[in-house]
Amino acid sequence: MAGDFIRVRCEDCENEQVLFGKAAGEVGCAVCGSTLATPAGGEAELHGDVLEVVEAR
Ligand SMILES: [Zn+2]
Repeated sequence: MAGDFIRVRCEDCENEQVLFGKAAGEVGCAVCGSTLATPAGGEAELHGDVLEVVEAR
């Protein structure tokens, strides 16, 4: 598995954003700056609503 992209919706402003599933750093919402993902042992821990997993090709 090379790692998937995950579409999440920010819980604070409902912005939809695509994140890398194995984010190496903290990922913030592009609109309001709320934390959407934090790295946790190789896999990102997601804080928003997961809408869809987009498989890497
Ligand atoms: Zn937001």
